Amino acid sequence: MKIKRRFSVLVTLVLLFFLAGCKNNTPVYKPKKQTVILSMDDGSNSDYTILFDYLKKKDIRATSFLIGSKVNSKGFLNEKEIREMKDYGWDFQSHTYSHGKMNKLNRQELIKEVEMNNKVFEDLGLEAPIATAMPFGLRSNLSTSIFMKQTPLIRLTRHFKDRQVIYDQLTKSDLTRIHSINIDLQEGSQEKLQDIIEDINLAKEEKALIVLYFHRTFKDKTHVKYYAEFKYIRQVIQHLEKNDFDFITFKDLYNEIYHTGPQDQV
Ligand SMILES: [Zn+2]
Repeated sequence: MKIKRRFSVLVTLVLLFFLAGCKNNTPVYKPKKQTVILSMDDGSNSDYTILFDYLKKKDIRATSFLIGSKVNSKGFLNEKEIREMKDYGWDFQSHTYSHGKMNKLNRQELIKEVEMNNKVFEDLGLEAPIATAMPFGLRSNLSTSIFMKQTPLIRLTRHFKDRQVIYDQLTKSDLTRIHSINIDLQEGSQEKLQDIIEDINLAKEEKALIVLYFHRTFKDKTHVKYYAEFKYIRQVIQHLEKNDFDFITFKDLYNEIYHTGPQDQV
């Protein structure tokens, strides 16, 4: 009798575990057609001086991931620019307050990162962020669990070439690890550009979502570490347009996932 009961407890536990797994694997977003999110890390002033004008002419909105401690400092977006972009429908999300290595911080430090960045957003008149781009793509289980309470979407980078980067659907468990492709293209990045074009073409074929990110952009060559030459960014964007991609922001993605009717909510 005892053994039987133990057995049924075990069966129930296995079943619950299985169901919990299923829930995390339930698709919460399926793109209707090929879709792209353009995102920029750090909130550099070139998001305004170069990209904003260019994308506005095309009626495209993108997502800037702001480092709270850098807003209003030299080389980064200032309040006036942010407000103008926000009025147009530009999306601003969190790239943490300090831009440190989040996998090295303790609980208290991580909570501080969230609170301080939220305060910056509030002072700028922006909605509280719903997405975090982890600096350097680094994270720990602790940082993921703390950030996801505040920002249900977490964007990572792709460290391995073979990792999945196009999504014909997103499951609940994908939301805290949305991989994105780096498009910091510079003179001599011809091979990298070719790889990116192939990923974009695949996303078109599969009617999938693809997330791209880059850093500061320049119209001429420069010596900073992370940047993209604008002529290549333009090339990528033109290729996306030619292939009839829908351009959405992280906020659009969030709205699709969380505001689809009461029974579909996750
Ligand atoms: Zn960064």
